[in-house]
Amino acid sequence: MNLKKLFDNTTTAFALKSDSELERAYFLFKMISNEPLVRIGTAVTNFAIKAHLPVQGLIRATVFDHFCGGVNEEDCMPVVDKMFAKGVCSVLDYSVEGKEEEEQFDAVLNKTIELLEFADQKDAMPFVVFKPSGLGRFLIWEKKTANIELNKEEEKEWTRIEKRFDIVCKKAHECDVAVLIDGEESWMQDAADELVTKMMRRYNKEKAIVYNTLQLYRHDRLEYLYQLHEEARVHNFKIGVKIVRGAYMEKENERAKEKGYPTPICKDKKQTDQNFNETMHYILKNLADISVFIGTHNEESSYLAMSLMRELTIAKNDFRVWFGQLYGMSDHISFNLSEEGYNVAKYVPFGPVRDVMPYLIRRAEENTSVAGQTSRELNLLSQEKERRKL
Ligand SMILES: Cc1cc2nc3c(=O)[nH]c(=O)nc-3n(C[C@H](O)[C@H](O)[C@H](O)COP(=O)(O)OP(=O)(O)OC[C@H]3O[C@@H](n4cnc5c(N)ncnc54)[C@H](O)[C@@H]3O)c2cc1C
Repeated sequence: MNLKKLFDNTTTAFALKSDSELERAYFLFKMISNEPLVRIGTAVTNFAIKAHLPVQGLIRATVFDHFCGGVNEEDCMPVVDKMFAKGVCSVLDYSVEGKEEEEQFDAVLNKTIELLEFADQKDAMPFVVFKPSGLGRFLIWEKKTANIELNKEEEKEWTRIEKRFDIVCKKAHECDVAVLIDGEESWMQDAADELVTKMMRRYNKEKAIVYNTLQLYRHDRLEYLYQLHEEARVHNFKIGVKIVRGAYMEKENERAKEKGYPTPICKDKKQTDQNFNETMHYILKNLADISVFIGTHNEESSYLAMSLMRELTIAKNDFRVWFGQLYGMSDHISFNLSEEGYNVAKYVPFGPVRDVMPYLIRRAEENTSVAGQTSRELNLLSQEKERRKL
C-alpha cells in the first residue's frame, strides 16, 4: 500500500455521510473559504446572539450540526456510535468557553465527572477533555503564570482550582479513562503546566492517564518537553502529551507586539512544522516514558507519524499512540487511518448553541486562514460527489 495515497480514499473518508450531508459540508466549506463572508458573518452572528434574535435554528442547521455533536451528551450518542462502527473513537468536548463564575466552574467539573463515568462504560470513548480556564478564572491563571501575588480571596480561588483538577484526575485514574487537558494562551500556560505536571506525578505512576498539551507553534516547547522528561525520570512517572500546532497565533503575536516582548511563536509556518515533526519524532523514540495524542489535520505530519512508527517498529494500534482530528474536519485522515488499524479519536464538541459560538468562530476563522486545507476538503468532497454520481 502506498502510504502517500492513503488520505485520497474518499469512499472510506465519507462512508458515514449521506448525500445531503455531503452537500451541506461542501456548501459550508465553500462559504467559510470566503474571508470577507466569514468576517461579516461572525460579526452579524455575534450581534444576533447578543441581541437574542432568533438565529439559533439557522446556526444549528449549518455550522453547529457540522462541527458539533449536539447540545448535550445524549445528543452526541448517535454520532459516537456511528463513528465507532468505523473504528473511530470520540472525545466528547463540553465546549462552553469564557465563563467567569464559580458555579460555572463547578458545572464544568460536574460535567467532566459525568463524562468520565459515561466513558467508563463505553469503549468508544477512551478519553475525556477539559480546558484549564473551564475550571478556574483566566485572571488567576494569568497572575500565577506572571508570579503576581494573589490576595486572600484569590488564594482561595486557586485552592479550589487545584481541588477541581485533583477531583477530575483522581476520577480518571479510578475509571482508567485518560484525560486530555487543552493548551491555551501562553500567558496562562506556565501555571497550567505546573498543575498538570503535579497531576501526572500523582496519577501517571503506571501509565499515562493525565495528558498535558504542547502547542508547537511555540518555539520553547521541545526544550520544555526535554525538561519534563528529565523530571519524569527522576520522579518516576509517565508523561502524557497531546501535541498540536496551536490555535491562538494571531492573539499571541498581537499581545507580544502590544506589550513589547518577543513573541513565543515560531518565526514562520515552516519552523512550526519542523518543531511539530521533531517533537513527534522525539516522543515516538521515547514511548516507554511518553504517550502521545497527535492532534493534527496536517497530512504531511500524519504520513510522517505513520512512517516513523513503521521505522521504529511501533504497532499501529499501540495504546500509547493516538491520532486525533476535530469532528467536521479532515475525515479523510481520521477514517483512512482507522481503516488502516491506527488508533483514532475525534473531538466531538457539544453544548448550548450560544455557548459554543467562540469554538465555532475559531473553526470558521481557522478554515479561512488555512486556505490550503479548506481547498483540500472541498476537493475531496467534490471528488466524492462525482464518484457517487458515477
Ligand atoms: C484533536 C485536536 C485537539 C486540539 N487541541 C488544541 C489545544 O488544546 N490547544 C490549541 O491551542 N489548539 C488545539 N487544537 C488546534 C490546533 O492547535 C491547530 O490550530 C489546528 O489543528 C491546525 O493545525 P494543524 O496541525 O491541523 O494543521 P496546519 O494547517 O498544518 O497548521 C496550521 C497551524 O500552523 C501554525 N501556523 C500557521 N501559520 C504560521 C506562521 N506564519 N508562523 C508560525 N506558525 C504558523 C498555527 O498553529 C496554525 O493553526 C487541536 C486540534 C486538534 C485536531
